[in-house]
Amino acid sequence: MKLKKILESIWNSITRKIKNKPLGFSCCFCAQSIMSSDKYPADLHITVNIDKTDEQQHDQFFFCHTECFKNKLHSNIQSYFTLEHIDEDNKI
Ligand SMILES: [Zn+2]
Repeated sequence: MKLKKILESIWNSITRKIKNKPLGFSCCFCAQSIMSSDKYPADLHITVNIDKTDEQQHDQFFFCHTECFKNKLHSNIQSYFTLEHIDEDNKI
């Protein structure tokens, strides 16, 4: 019985580390590492000069926690944010 508990403890420690490893990106809003265990790690795509030609537009990607992104949205805009319902729709 003791051996089983020891093995479970070791297994839980290993799986916790595997489940919670850094993805190698920092959130552009809070500067914290984005971990594999974070809910909905995201990239944020920005295009500038959207009123110009394709050649004049420029794109850049950032990484963020979805929750940090949502919290930075104006309160009037947050109601349009629907990505947090992914689980409910069974899309992932
Ligand atoms: Zn963040």
